[in-house]
Amino acid sequence: MNRLSFALSLVLAAGTSVHAQPAEPVEAPMQYRGHRAVRVEARTARELQVIRALADEVLTCSGTGIGRFDIRVTPPKYAALVAEGIRHEVLIPDIQAHMDQIWADDARVRAGDDPSWFATYRTLTEFETRMQYYATNYPNLATLSNIGTSIQGRQIKMLRITGPGSTETRPAFIVQANQHAREWVTPHAAMYMVDRFCETYGTDPRITNVVNNIDFHFIVTVNPDGYAYSNPSNPSWRKNRRANSNNPATGCSTTFGVDLNRNWGYQWGYDNTGSSGTCSSETYRGVAAWSEPELAGVKSLVDSLAAQGRLKVHWDIHANGQSILSPWGFRTTPAPPDLPLMNTLGQMIQTGMASVRGTNYPYGQGSVILYLNNGNTRDYTYGVHGAMAWTIELGGSSFQPAVSQILPLCQEALEGLLPVAEYYIPPAPPPCYANCDGSTGSPRLTSNDFQCFLNRFASGDTYANCDGSNGVPMLTSNDFQCFLNKFASGCT
Ligand SMILES: [Zn+2]
Repeated sequence: MNRLSFALSLVLAAGTSVHAQPAEPVEAPMQYRGHRAVRVEARTARELQVIRALADEVLTCSGTGIGRFDIRVTPPKYAALVAEGIRHEVLIPDIQAHMDQIWADDARVRAGDDPSWFATYRTLTEFETRMQYYATNYPNLATLSNIGTSIQGRQIKMLRITGPGSTETRPAFIVQANQHAREWVTPHAAMYMVDRFCETYGTDPRITNVVNNIDFHFIVTVNPDGYAYSNPSNPSWRKNRRANSNNPATGCSTTFGVDLNRNWGYQWGYDNTGSSGTCSSETYRGVAAWSEPELAGVKSLVDSLAAQGRLKVHWDIHANGQSILSPWGFRTTPAPPDLPLMNTLGQMIQTGMASVRGTNYPYGQGSVILYLNNGNTRDYTYGVHGAMAWTIELGGSSFQPAVSQILPLCQEALEGLLPVAEYYIPPAPPPCYANCDGSTGSPRLTSNDFQCFLNRFASGDTYANCDGSNGVPMLTSNDFQCFLNKFASGCT
């Protein structure tokens, strides 16, 4: 099947489950012959204005501002950029040639005998099949469920992965990806974590430890409609696929899409910096907070885990800003009260990500190290629930880096997550040995046990000071009474 007929079949397949939406327009794949991907540097407000006017597409998930960001430009606009003296670096000289290479590599991978699942870009259908694979093959670790429905009627799927035992007090993590449709590597990165957690559980001690002690919730794609539309035919598509013309409140006629990562209900629409009330905008925030059905189930999950007191971390994977962004997004000052902890953990994430191949991921408050935006995931989870939350911007030359870059980017995401998971593993309870001498007679606790504790105390074991007293002498009959109590409550 060629790419166009494949795209048409996707559209037709989507049509069978569409509700309350007009049919998708059938479009030929977009063409980018001669278009360049360019990293520009706006040094002044005037340069920023010039660049924004010339950009055919902003190729940076988080937006634009004074500083560096990436854009797509046609040849005449590139010439204008040069004429304006804008400082820049060409990342991809011909985006169409780059995309053609991706599909040539894709065909080569698929023709191979045993293609790795992470060796090329997978379709939404392949993601759904693969999610079921983990649930079927690892029933003791992985549970697949539907937590919501997209605007076009697709299911928002969640894979919960955790080891055996009670999860009542187990710390919970949410890892989500692909709010932005065109950031193709991001659902692969979330799926790679699922893959490693399932396939190396029991053999990799580090993975086994985190899976046994953290309750992970993976929403591999929050935007299945957008992804199915973007891959393969519309690689520039960012938002969901809401027909804004269907809603009189928008005042829009023909445009599609709400930016899901501007639709979260904390400081939604705080200002027009980094989110927009204009429905044709790439950062259109929707008519109201939570207006988009893709977010309903995710919100319920966040709120429910937080209400149980278990939600520790919410990871939202994006591309390709190559940075580790903590709250706030909506303002720069005052900084969040937990910024020191966010930075401590941010440094751990940075070190983990650099361990793969040395890539430097700067970390910090997103509004400070990158750009302002509001209505995003991390501001909601931290702002409402106080749980640690990051926007993880993976690196890469574009939203669709060469297929050879998929696996290393996935590995960077995993290596960034692991140290944070380890940080939140509760410390093991202290050993309990009320019957210090290990005797089996009756009574089991005797003065011999107290002598045993005196000996342990002399050798530096503070556990012997059972009542925690600071007096002199530190060990008294009170400590022995303390151990009698421990023994009575089940400590052997
Ligand atoms: Zn993004």
